[in-house]
Amino acid sequence: MKKRVAIIGAGPCGLAQLRAFQSAQDQGAECPEVVCYEKQSDWGGMWNYTWRTGLDQHGEPVHGSMYRYLWSNGPKECLEFADYSFDEHFGRPLGSYPPREVLWDYIKGRVEKAGVRKFIQFNTAVRGVTYDQNSGLFSVTVHSYDNDQTSTEIFDYVVVASGHFSTPNVPYFEGFESFGGRVLHAHDFRDALEFKGKDVLIVGGSYSAEDIGSQCYKYGARSITSCYRSAPMGYRWPDNWQEKPLLQRMTGKTAWFADGTHHHVDAIILCTGYKHHFPFLAEELRLKTDNRLWPLSLYKGVFWENNLKLIYLGMQDQWYSFNMFDAQAWYARDVILGRIALPKLAQMQAEDLAWRQEEETLETAQQMFEFQGEYIRQLIEATDYPTFDISAVNQTFLDWKHDKYEDIMGYRNKCFRSLISGTMATPHHTPWLEALDDSLEAYLSETPAVTQVTAI
Ligand code: FAD
Ligand code: NAP
Repeated sequence: MKKRVAIIGAGPCGLAQLRAFQSAQDQGAECPEVVCYEKQSDWGGMWNYTWRTGLDQHGEPVHGSMYRYLWSNGPKECLEFADYSFDEHFGRPLGSYPPREVLWDYIKGRVEKAGVRKFIQFNTAVRGVTYDQNSGLFSVTVHSYDNDQTSTEIFDYVVVASGHFSTPNVPYFEGFESFGGRVLHAHDFRDALEFKGKDVLIVGGSYSAEDIGSQCYKYGARSITSCYRSAPMGYRWPDNWQEKPLLQRMTGKTAWFADGTHHHVDAIILCTGYKHHFPFLAEELRLKTDNRLWPLSLYKGVFWENNLKLIYLGMQDQWYSFNMFDAQAWYARDVILGRIALPKLAQMQAEDLAWRQEEETLETAQQMFEFQGEYIRQLIEATDYPTFDISAVNQTFLDWKHDKYEDIMGYRNKCFRSLISGTMATPHHTPWLEALDDSLEAYLSETPAVTQVTAI
């Protein structure tokens, strides 16, 4: 009997796992039977934009947290697939920070070429995963929206690739209940034009705060006030953007901050991160962690130490993204194929703990992406995933950080060299701050589109 592998989710991680198996099969390997369950009607995960918020058409929490006009917040050269370059997909050089739809197209291009769509059951939500110690098998219960039927199948391995940026972390601040404006989490933010002419308060000090605030600035908010819990973002913000210590309370439409100052606000956007949330997994299978570079209990950042046939992909906080997911998926594939043997549990736990101890010493951004780069290097070394120059990717991250401190509204105009094809990116035809149309069509056109003027 062929082994059976269930993959939960057809986002970049689930697709990496499908591509990993397909690549081995193409080279003659005997592969297990793979079934990927995806609750949305199309692939690409977070990159498959939805206008919906709250509950979807099936009464399920909406997965998507991406918004209109979202552009990559890191250089594309840092996430490029080592087996499928941007050159191969687009046939010509592009800018280094494409908008969402362009990256979605790139993600889709690789898996369309690989022909793996047939392994995915769309419109199918995984509702329950349990493990039977006696048989050594998983039961995976799914709900097909197409025929409104629930069914259960048996698998040898389960790969959890359901993402961890969909269940919002929503703190409470005094006075929210009587605030006269809108309070929303970044998960429900869709269109910055909603905040044109408004005084916007952003809570949080990480990527969503930085980018959603920048979107609001770009699309005409009157003022942006961002406030942080641990540390200011510290960029040179435009004149109508002030950064404050944490919000203490609201009185009517007045926000009061930890330094005693106050400011009028019309809307509050909580950019306060997400929760790792796996309601479909039995308790003993469930990873519990905050968003960090080394969640514990995952050998090689992937194998659930309480049950090594349960594999988690992409659960780390991400500097590296698509190429890290690939490195993990190739490694997991090779363990499933029996090409890599896992050591004894005590050794795995010791290794896991050593990574965590090192993670706890990291202070600077540079140390963090070098840590994640080294992790990826070690994974790739063990498989046939094409090697690439990780120290050069780290240098690109460093330049990116520097560019942001130089000009937070202009860093996306910079260009980097591909570390896969060697091709130099070309500047986009329109500076990011003026590029109001983020469509694939406008991005790939040779000149600024007329729609850019009419977008607002
Ligand atoms: P996801 O992309 O979230 O995909 C998970 C998939 O699992 C989804 O398709 C979902 O529908 C499916 N799923 C979930 N639960 C179930 C279930 N029970 N049953 C069936 N299917 C299920 N990364 C970058 O590299 N660059 C960026 O610019 C960038 N921008 C981002 C912007 C935002 C606002 C957010 C939130 C994230 C961003 N990221 C970015 C990180 C992004 O999450 C990763 O790039 C990538 O999408 C993670 O892939 P994933 O497959 O782990 O998860
Ligand atoms: P995050 O990086 O996990 O950051 C969460 C932020 O919320 C931190 O600043 C945290 O503060 C703050 N926070 C949490 N609880 C809080 C509380 N009770 N009060 C005040 N602040 C609180 O999450 P994220 O910024 O949403 O980013 C998630 C992912 O989305 C990242 O991978 C990012 O790259 C991606 N993203 C990309 C783009 C893009 O442009 N392409 C845009 C947005 C997001 P502390 O520091 O104090 O913990």
